[in-house]
Amino acid sequence: MTRTVLMNAGPWLPVPPDGYGGIENVIAALVPELRNLGIRVVLATVASSTLLADEYLTLFLNGRFEVLQRPYNQVSGVAHAHMHAVLRALRDRDDIDLVHDHVEVAGLAVLAAAVLAPAVPPVLHTLHWDLAKHADFYFGLDAGPRVRVNGVSASQLRRAPDALRRHSLGHVHLATPLAVGADRQPPPEKGHYAVVMGRITPGKGQHLAARLAHECGFDLILAGPVGPYRQPADLAAADDAATANPDVCYWEQQVRPLVDGVRVRWIGTVGSLKRNALVASARVSLFPLQWEEPGGTAVVETLALGTPVVGLSRGCLPELVEHGRTGWLATSPDDLPSLIQAAGRIDARECREQAARRFTPAVMAARYAELYEQVISGTSGEPADADGHTKTFQVSP
Ligand code: UDP
Repeated sequence: MTRTVLMNAGPWLPVPPDGYGGIENVIAALVPELRNLGIRVVLATVASSTLLADEYLTLFLNGRFEVLQRPYNQVSGVAHAHMHAVLRALRDRDDIDLVHDHVEVAGLAVLAAAVLAPAVPPVLHTLHWDLAKHADFYFGLDAGPRVRVNGVSASQLRRAPDALRRHSLGHVHLATPLAVGADRQPPPEKGHYAVVMGRITPGKGQHLAARLAHECGFDLILAGPVGPYRQPADLAAADDAATANPDVCYWEQQVRPLVDGVRVRWIGTVGSLKRNALVASARVSLFPLQWEEPGGTAVVETLALGTPVVGLSRGCLPELVEHGRTGWLATSPDDLPSLIQAAGRIDARECREQAARRFTPAVMAARYAELYEQVISGTSGEPADADGHTKTFQVSP
């Protein structure tokens, strides 16, 4: 039977994104593979998205990412306007079998209310973020049997409040198209620099990477946006009010003083081909995490590009990186200098082989297709433990 899934990518960035965008990159990896499996995909996104889907549902022309970090009372209408458009579509048509939602709290809250109407299809909501966020919402969640969630790593779900975990079907690791055939790619030519690929934000630990670069004497390139500012020129042109943004504040106070343009450089956001070349040619990709990284798109991309990971053993990193084979993970920042030094002992082929085996869109899509069937048929698993070891049971109608 052909299934039709409404894939709710949200209003923030196009799919695929032009440069930064973890969730949108993952959706761009997932949709083509679902379609290969015969699943019809209605993509709820912004009109500038270029990903092929069977149908589109759009409200905004362009991604609204630049307003995402403004105060809640200025921006809450964006996600809700998008969700309202999704609900109107669900009300007006009866061919959708399932909603696969990726829109942080607004998506889950609105859809959990909507599914109380039996005509609205069941929902699988993917949790892409740190579940310590939104505690007020997750602690009391009671969305009934027709809403299920999944995490993007076991470690993320382990920290989920019980109420949220009761809705969980376990985790599905993230994937990247770069992993397809990665094991057949020639070993990349390596430069002499390290890279940190990601939003400049305290959790990603760019300040620690920059400090290590100066102390240990290696070149470091930082790529990614600072808050809503994609390029150094955008940030330079921003007015003083920009420093109210926590990521701008972090940049100004803890990172920028270490960015000398020689040993440590910030190159802003880089798009796909330039990003791939930058990561593939890096000697090492650093993840000196200061938070529990939930899913780590940039981690699986790094491995697919044949670059070893060196980082702090937090969040999803121990699930994605095999210590000693695809990178080195430390429990203390004091151990990072020697591990960065030892990055050359990691075989790029092993990184690529593991990515090709574990992190392809096909692997991810097969797992999601299974979860869709569980949610649609009402045979949902409730994890007996946070690692997603599920016991299957019949959900009463
Ligand atoms: N990214 C990019 N260009 C940049 C910085 C980041 O293309 O300059 C991409 C990166 O490759 C990854 C995504 O943005 O696909 C970031 O997702 P991740 O899960 O690593 O981080 P988060 O979602 O926490 O920001």
